[in-house]
Amino acid sequence: MGTRSGYEYDAIIIGTGIGGLVAGAYLAKAGARVMLYEHHSQPGGYFTSFTRQGFTFDGGIQACEDCGMLFSVLRQIGVLDRVELKKTRFGLATPDHFAVLDSLESVQAFYRELIKVYPDQAAGINRIVEDVGNFCRVMEAYCQLPNPMFGPLRQAMATYPGWRKKYKGDLKHSKEFVEYMKIPLDVYLQKRLTNPDLILFIKQMMYAGAPASFTLSFYYFVMDYYHPRGGFQSISNALADFITEKGGKIQYKTLVEEIVLENGRAAGVRLKTGEIIRAPYIISNSDARRTFLKMLPPEATPETYRWRLAETPVSDSVITVFLGVDIPAEEIKTRDCKHIYYLPDYKGVDVLKSLDDEDAYTRAPVEICIPSLEDPSMAPPGKTAIVLQSLAYMNYANNWRTENGKRTEKYKALKEKVSNQLIANAEKLIPGLSGKILFKTVGTPYTNERYTLNSEGATAGWTYNPTKAMNTGWEGMKGFKTPVKNLYLVGHWTMSPGGAPAGFMSGRIVSSLVKWRLRMRI
Ligand SMILES: Cc1cc2nc3c(=O)[nH]c(=O)nc-3n(C[C@H](O)[C@H](O)[C@H](O)COP(=O)(O)OP(=O)(O)OC[C@H]3O[C@@H](n4cnc5c(N)ncnc54)[C@H](O)[C@@H]3O)c2cc1C
Repeated sequence: MGTRSGYEYDAIIIGTGIGGLVAGAYLAKAGARVMLYEHHSQPGGYFTSFTRQGFTFDGGIQACEDCGMLFSVLRQIGVLDRVELKKTRFGLATPDHFAVLDSLESVQAFYRELIKVYPDQAAGINRIVEDVGNFCRVMEAYCQLPNPMFGPLRQAMATYPGWRKKYKGDLKHSKEFVEYMKIPLDVYLQKRLTNPDLILFIKQMMYAGAPASFTLSFYYFVMDYYHPRGGFQSISNALADFITEKGGKIQYKTLVEEIVLENGRAAGVRLKTGEIIRAPYIISNSDARRTFLKMLPPEATPETYRWRLAETPVSDSVITVFLGVDIPAEEIKTRDCKHIYYLPDYKGVDVLKSLDDEDAYTRAPVEICIPSLEDPSMAPPGKTAIVLQSLAYMNYANNWRTENGKRTEKYKALKEKVSNQLIANAEKLIPGLSGKILFKTVGTPYTNERYTLNSEGATAGWTYNPTKAMNTGWEGMKGFKTPVKNLYLVGHWTMSPGGAPAGFMSGRIVSSLVKWRLRMRI
């Protein structure tokens, strides 16, 4: 491709989250000279794993939906054969019911079970069951759409009529799906139900304010969930190795502090060491607020844009409890489910509205992730690695009892207390759990922020609430564009709702744009 004179690289990528790695891999494959800077000691951002005392844990994402992207992107780059992706079963459990979500009917049956607890809400529940069916089928149709981004246009066009025929009936609900993407779930639920406890019970299964049709169709994702053998680090390592094999460079433990502008265009980066490195295109996989409010001077972006960046809420964070336990896999009876969302009571809790309640997690749902049940490489023989997660916010319990961001003894005590509350709930599915712990460590929203630099430990970019979000609708699909010339964004800050697909999609699109501009020399 030929590096332009005066520049060390064709493109610099700030961060090696999934968005940065995907963009870097496509560019390196095309022969561009790419340089990636990562502040952590390994690639991946939330696509990460770590090993302690022989137990391997996924530090961020625990399972990833294909969504028509995961396999396509890895295959197109050429690394699919370097990872082993296994479909994982997801379960929903309450103290008296366990549902394996392996078909649309099983999801609908879980909702119908709620009629036993809330008989006077039967009419509303039946409407929700109908919507779950319609929206999941629309989501499936969208995910299966022949996508010219991941193969020859001719092939996409040839398979399109078959796709249209297969999903014709389901696509009738597209209009409704799009309409309900603009409405938060709780607003939708208030139209269908009158019991506030039931509304809260359903609402707590998703990120705060998430769009109604997205939430009800998310069950399609969990039926299409995959886990990579050895943990999510294996995907990140495969992409990072590919980049370096193709001549790209990755420098770890390196913080980019500033995006350097020349004549109003992004033209390089300044590292924490003070060193300046130049390239005609800069791709930021960093937190959006950090990119525009910390790494660029105020005059680089319009005031209204900066105001929106500062004021738009971010997506929910999580508290995570990593446990190495002395329980053999065969003794854990979760009906072959490696991921179980356990809801301790039918009343539900809104942690976001219970920020001063130190006992909120005795009632909050807990996601129990046990990939080592199927993948023995993740735990020593006869033992099991378990990850417990629950939604959490940085301002919980007076900022987790930190003092000016410092992790005090009170912070540690609170972490201990909340983690024990989550363990107590998980113990209802895994009897004897608390007495079998060999290793334990706990992460809070502060931990997420420290490792990934995502504001407030946000797990998926901006808020999922469509009435408050930064990038929504079709306009939101262009979130990779920025007001600064030659600067692009990749990762979960480019779309709402964000998540791994936003990383795959933006990485693919931005790499194509930069490749094209490099070839055209514009
Ligand atoms: C618990 C949990 C569960 C999840 N579950 C799902 C799920 O089921 N489905 C789904 O689709 N998504 C899920 N997600 C979200 C998904 O994992 C993320 O949205 C996605 O991985 C984010 O990718 P990204 O490209 O935006 O980069 P990030 O993962 O945010 O990584 C950014 C990287 O850039 C680096 N960086 C930032 N700034 C700088 C700088 N200035 N200099 C150098 N390096 C820098 C950081 O260190 C980091 O490595 C989950 C996330 C979590 C935490």
